[in-house]
Parts: sequence; C-alpha cells; structure tokens
Amino acid sequence: MKPVDLPSDFSSDPLLRLRREISDEASQCVACGLCVPHCPSYRVTLSEADSPRGRIALMSGVAAGCIPMNARFALHMDRCLTCRACEAVCPNHVRFGQLIDDAREMISSPPLEVRRNNPGVRVSRFRKWVERELIAQPSRIDALRPLLRFYQRSGLQEWVRKSGLLGKTKLALLEAQVPFIDKPRSSSWSPVYPAVGKPRGEVGLFLGCVARVADVTTLDATLFVLNQLGYTVHVPSAQTCCGALHRHRGDADAAEQLERQNVQAFAGLDAGLDLGAIITTASGCGAQLSEYSSFPDWQRTTRAPAVGPQTGSETTKRSPPKFLDISEFLAGAEGWEDVRLQPLPYKILVHEPCTLRNVLRASAYAYKLLERIPQAQVVPLAGNDQCCGAAGTYFLDQTEISAALLEDKVTALKAGQACYLATSNVGCALHIATGLRQAGLGIEVIHPVTLIARQMGMQSLK
Ligand code: SF4
Ligand code: SF4
Repeated sequence: MKPVDLPSDFSSDPLLRLRREISDEASQCVACGLCVPHCPSYRVTLSEADSPRGRIALMSGVAAGCIPMNARFALHMDRCLTCRACEAVCPNHVRFGQLIDDAREMISSPPLEVRRNNPGVRVSRFRKWVERELIAQPSRIDALRPLLRFYQRSGLQEWVRKSGLLGKTKLALLEAQVPFIDKPRSSSWSPVYPAVGKPRGEVGLFLGCVARVADVTTLDATLFVLNQLGYTVHVPSAQTCCGALHRHRGDADAAEQLERQNVQAFAGLDAGLDLGAIITTASGCGAQLSEYSSFPDWQRTTRAPAVGPQTGSETTKRSPPKFLDISEFLAGAEGWEDVRLQPLPYKILVHEPCTLRNVLRASAYAYKLLERIPQAQVVPLAGNDQCCGAAGTYFLDQTEISAALLEDKVTALKAGQACYLATSNVGCALHIATGLRQAGLGIEVIHPVTLIARQMGMQSLK
C-alpha cells in the first residue's frame, strides 16, 4: 500500500497518531495476496473486504481520509478474528495484529460528526462497562464462581435451558458455554504453593480472568504438576486480567492500565524471589502478556555474587523472567525422572489455538508434553491452521461466521475418532466443548497439563 501524507506533528492528537501508525504499517503491505487463502473470515464470506489484504486497504483508506469511517468499515474490521494467521504467512512481516488493534481503537474513539452520522461505529457502553468493571476486577470475577455453582446445582440452569427463556440472544450463547462448576474452590488463591520433594526453582502463575472462574481445573492441575516436579509457585494477588479483550476491542486505555498492574504485581514478586518464569495456562493471555510494551523496561536488579571485599552495593541488571505457556515451561523442566505417569492407551487429538500457533509459535510443546504419557497416541486435529471461531467475544458478535468455523472443527473431530481433544486455551475449549455437546459427541475437551496431572495421579481429577 502507498504511504499516506499525514502531518508529522501528531503528539497532541491521539487520533492522528493512530492514523499515522496505521498508514506506516499498511505501507509495508505489497498486496501480494499470499495471506488471503489463510484467512478464516475470507474463507467463509469470500469477500475481499473480509480478507487481510482487503482490510489493510480499507484501514489505509480511512487513515488517509479517502474512505469514510462508517458502519460498513466497522463491520469488516469486526469480522476479523484477530487470529493472525495472515501475519504468520506474510513474507513482508506486516504486523496485522497491531494494525487491527489500531483500527479498532480508531473506531472506538471516532470524531463527533462520525458518531452522529454512524450509530454502527459506536462501541456499546454496556460492553465497555462489563469489560472494565467485571472482567478487569479479579475479586468480582472470583465471586461469580459460587453464584454459577448455585445456578447449576439448584436446577435453575436446567430449567433455563429447557424453557428456551433466553431465545437466540447473546446471553443464550454465553449461557451455553458455562462449564460445569464441580467444586466450590475458595474464592482466594494462596500466595505460595510449595514444591514437593527436591526443590528445583521458583515460578509465578498468571491466573487470567475467565480461567479463574471457568477453568480452575487447569490452574489446579498446573499447581499440582509444578509442585510435584519441585517448583514452588507464587501467585501474586495484585495480578489482574491480561487486557486482551480490551486491547482487541479498541479500549487501549483500559488495556494499558491492566498491563501496568500486572507488570507491577510480577515485578514486585520477582524483586524478592528471582523467578525462573511466569507461567500462563491460556494461550490467549500468554499472547497478550508476551507483547506487553512496557515489559522490556522491567529490569531485574540482583546482588552480584560475593567476590573479594563487599561493599554491599554491587548489583547486576538482568532481563525479566519470561511469560511462558505451561507446556513450553514443562518441556524444559527438571524432575520428570521423579514422577510416574499412568499409561493412557487412547488417541488424543491436539487443537492448536491461533494464539499458541500464530503469536507464541509454541504449538510443538503441547505435543511434546502429551507424548510423555505412555501408550497415548497424540495426533494433530485436521484443520489446525483455521480458527475455531471463539476468538474472545467473537462468538457472541459474529455468530454466523463463528458457527461455520465451529462446524468445521466438529466435523474434523467426528472424523478423528478420538476420546480426547487437548487444547491450551480456555476460550477455544469452552467453544468447542459447546459444539461437541450440541452435536451429541462425547469427546472430552481437556488442557494438556490437566491430562498430565491426571496421569500423574492427581486425586481430584480422577
Ligand atoms: S501477505 Fe503480507 S504483503 Fe501480502 S497481501 Fe498479505 S499482508 Fe500484504
Ligand atoms: S487476523 Fe485472522 S481473520 Fe483477521 S485478517 Fe488476519 S487471518 Fe483474517
């Protein structure tokens, strides 16, 4: 795309800054179209405007003021799943993830006359409120778990589902994904979970927002496996949501606030402990955390080893610990010789979440981890290069495209004839499990680390 001539002094105008950033990055695209067949939204709609190349052309035009920012433009941006399959194959390394986030930020803060004339460009205030006042507040998220448990155990859920009360609303889609809350876990997390046996290191654990309500099983399994291998796990209470939902919906202020809070929480912990890594169990969070812009500024200052006369002030600066997906950490972890895994003579299909595959580029570690289970047959799910359609809140907003993508996954799972589907992202797990339940298929959707914990004998997973 041709670079656009925009004023160079944009320091006082955030919208102008965004337009400049979009224009600069879009100018790297040579419109070769190599990304187009890899784009899931294009494969469903077959419209160039729903392809990466088409979206870049639209963004570039809007940034230059040649195309109006209207509801139609917002729709084509909204139909993007932010799966970044396009970025993974682009020979020119166009940073599409950055582009689409910038485009959404531009849409979420349009000039007044655009807002007046284009109601479709507005971002729902209710959605913004939920993202800021619920998802970004860990204590409120924790309070949901006992409420959901009551909803399920009281018979209310069964009645709601049978009565069809929710119709075909977004609430019905959300309700269909509520996982079974099997135990009333205490609403607070311990600050530390000590290693069992020979100590091999200290790590931090990132809880996430959805996972701390809907995927406590995976978090508990992670604690169990790490502790059994000899790692002490620290869980700072000041951590919060990673900010991915906020960032991908254009709420940059909220995303930056959450980033600051997480960096402070883990930097404060690291200062006293020298963490080996910060573990994530949901690749959607891991992808967001790995791209924190303030992260490189977090330098660790540690005392130099005592050599010669000490002044007490010698320090060295080192890089901060890495945010690592649990499978990647466990691939390089020590202590496996001290644990025994029970055989599992079944086929395990592996789903590769887009964030694990296209952003973290860490899919291989999930296979490596599962292959530790004796007699397990670990096989990739067909069509792993395509998004499942969950994509944060995409399944609520773009129901038709999301349903078409989910159907492809269910078809692949039917053909795969396995007992288990292993996936490393809670959003994908909930979405695919809903599809399987609705199709009447009894395939268990499980995180790789949970399967490992089960085969290691974790009692509560039996
Ligand atoms: S592959 Fe890269 S350069 Fe080619 S059209 Fe897609 S974004 Fe542009
Ligand atoms: S991020 Fe995914 S959905 Fe969006 S343009 Fe790229 S390939 Fe298509």
